[in-house]
Amino acid sequence: MQDRIIQYLMGEGNVRVFAADSREMTEQARQIHDLSPTATAAMGRAMTAAGIMACDLKTGGSMTLNIRGDGPLGPMCVVSRPGVFVKAYAQNPQADVPPKSTGKLDVGTLVGQGRLSVIKDLQLKEPWMGQVNLHNGEIAEDLAYYYAISEQQPSLVALGVLVDKDRSVLSAGGIVVQPLPGCPDEIITQLEQDAARLGDISTKLRACSAGELVQEIFAALEPHQINELPLSYACDCSQGRIERALISLGREELTDMIEKDHAAEVSCHFCNKVYQLDEARLRTLLEQAQTKGE
Ligand SMILES: [Zn+2]
Repeated sequence: MQDRIIQYLMGEGNVRVFAADSREMTEQARQIHDLSPTATAAMGRAMTAAGIMACDLKTGGSMTLNIRGDGPLGPMCVVSRPGVFVKAYAQNPQADVPPKSTGKLDVGTLVGQGRLSVIKDLQLKEPWMGQVNLHNGEIAEDLAYYYAISEQQPSLVALGVLVDKDRSVLSAGGIVVQPLPGCPDEIITQLEQDAARLGDISTKLRACSAGELVQEIFAALEPHQINELPLSYACDCSQGRIERALISLGREELTDMIEKDHAAEVSCHFCNKVYQLDEARLRTLLEQAQTKGE
């Protein structure tokens, strides 16, 4: 099954739902970053959520989800763009922790305590930013908390990643349910009843798609599909972007690079692509850094 995000309306148009299948994207991230099983679950959940959040962005916009916990994983950064394209990295992708007594991957311990921030580039002068404390580091509840506090949007967030013994990704996906303003009480009550049956979605997603799960669990509210988007891991790095990043380091750093190494080799955090810059190119960047800073 190809990765995708399906959007539904249900409860007479009073509730919107996103259902994401993200197994391929999560497997690709695992291979790029050589993720440990628990890190695969952490990154897969965060990428799935960021992909869903990108559905609201206009063309050219982007969204960054930063999860900065004090656990072994270190800071994790996920960027998503409309389309839907997602990329991610974590400081210590190979870090792992023992599973919980239930046998489940202990994402909360791997992530730790800290802050979750969302930065939305909406193509306006200033980016929009919302920030909350991590609730338990398990990502889904952290995001529900973020939605409630920063966006004043009550949301039900279910995210799941199942990793096989050989570390490959068996299933990954997510469901986000949001009652819209003015949603009648009886629909909220029905929603709460149904949501209790959602449980751990990672095992359920082995047998069906996230969309099928939505149709089954929320059948009483009659979900109908309004949109479908492909979802994939994709990096948008380029020579130009790398050079702009180098310029922003400033003259001192650039001069240092030229004098010590006479060249620079920069690899992209998100996809590991390597960019080579020779001394002449670095000198051009140095000139631009000078004009910029003065
Ligand atoms: Zn890249």
